[in-house]
Amino acid sequence: MTAQALYAHLPSVDLILNHQSQQALINQYGKEHITALVRQLLDQARDSIKQQQQLPLWLSLNECDGLALTQLKQQRITLFSEQLAQVAQPLGSKGQRRAFNLTGTILHTNLGRALQAEAAIKAVTDVMRFPSTLEYSLQQGKRGHRDHAISEQLQQLIGCEDACLVNNNAAAVLLMLASLANGKEVIVSRGELVEIGGSFRIPDVMRQAGCQLVEVGATNRTHLKDYQQAINENTALLMKVHTSNYMIQGFTSAVSEAELCALGRSMQVPVISDLGSGSLIDLAQYGLPSEPMPQKMLQDGIDLVSFSGDKLLGGPQAGIIAGNADLIAQLQHHPLKRALRCDKMTLAALEATLNLYRHPERLPCDLPTLSMLTRSLDALTDLGQRLIPHCQQLVGQHFTVSVMPSMGQIGSGALPTEQLESVALCFSVNNNQTSQTLNDLADLLASGEIPIIGRIHHNRLWLCLRGISHEQDFIAQLAQLSLTHNE
Ligand SMILES: *Cc1c(COP(=O)(O)O)cnc(C)c1O
Repeated sequence: MTAQALYAHLPSVDLILNHQSQQALINQYGKEHITALVRQLLDQARDSIKQQQQLPLWLSLNECDGLALTQLKQQRITLFSEQLAQVAQPLGSKGQRRAFNLTGTILHTNLGRALQAEAAIKAVTDVMRFPSTLEYSLQQGKRGHRDHAISEQLQQLIGCEDACLVNNNAAAVLLMLASLANGKEVIVSRGELVEIGGSFRIPDVMRQAGCQLVEVGATNRTHLKDYQQAINENTALLMKVHTSNYMIQGFTSAVSEAELCALGRSMQVPVISDLGSGSLIDLAQYGLPSEPMPQKMLQDGIDLVSFSGDKLLGGPQAGIIAGNADLIAQLQHHPLKRALRCDKMTLAALEATLNLYRHPERLPCDLPTLSMLTRSLDALTDLGQRLIPHCQQLVGQHFTVSVMPSMGQIGSGALPTEQLESVALCFSVNNNQTSQTLNDLADLLASGEIPIIGRIHHNRLWLCLRGISHEQDFIAQLAQLSLTHNE
């Protein structure tokens, strides 16, 4: 067929769009998107004719002798529709979607960190749906401050004078430094120059805040006199940073908050502390390793302490700065605060989460993060036994599934070297029977409506059960995968 004749075989944009099979696509993705895709496909076809004197493979018919031109066109429209459905599909795959976090890391930054308490979910949906008193004081009948209610809660919970809320703890550190130390020096121990994920490094944040970092001590040991000797008339702050994602062991020495605060007070230099995760309750009571508590820092005399909302606190992404009222007022008035402030959904979730801390005895039940961290190994083992048949159904003869003790972690920088005892479903390859690999299995588990994310380690695939929150949904997901995979 000549190129001219081939061009004549291409249906028009309108003919393709008006074909009945396009209606569903248009309903789902919108007419504009689908029209643009049709134009792209037609361009592809014309390019192929121009350069190779033939139609692209997806538009070629095996048997076309003896068909009238109108019939041919009809068939080409069908082929177009099929191709269109294929290329439109990625438009439908959502960016962020629900998943099962069975990685063994409970507060997994890539998987959304803390799950919200039901009370927080309710509070968020209310302020999403209705007007709210975000910046309105009912007592005074006029404008209020968006951080006010949470500041009052924190005053009662951790004994601070005032508090300031921002987008995340990284923003909290930036705001403290920019407001209190711009153009001045901040003294930090060499052992605490932390980098956390996503290129957040204390020295870089200092630079962005316009401060000069003064490093003191050695990587493994810093003494009070190191801070003392570095203080001069340009010193704006002494800063402690919780080494949340690593631990220096061996011949080490660090200056305690209490000692540093005594020095700061005698020299009239404020002391601030970036806690990272922090915990408002003593985790030791649940047999978990202790994480530093903001209230203890304030008792030790720290002027400002900052910590995350979505780490151990178990709430939404937020940065909480608590402490001295005069310093908080300085932060509140800094222009960066406006850029870093929390939105109403965050504040609603945070307020509801903090309310739960009024009843600490109920927290292991009400707060999903703590509920997961405190699940007993016996309960996890029972859960594993219940799930084995559903897993075996999915993987058939290719893999052996067993319930095994495993090690997880809290994650997000909390308790870096402490491992969390857990129980996992463990898949190993039945070598003689299959060419399927652990990577195939990981792909399969991630391919469903709700992806199941585990971890490959030591030649096995592990699904850590501490992170399962909805057992029935999980079973249904395994069943759905079995259906599509084994058909
Ligand atoms: C996690 C962490 C941060 C950053 O907190 P985000 O809420 O993730 O912004 C800062 N400093 C330390 C020590 C941390 O552990």
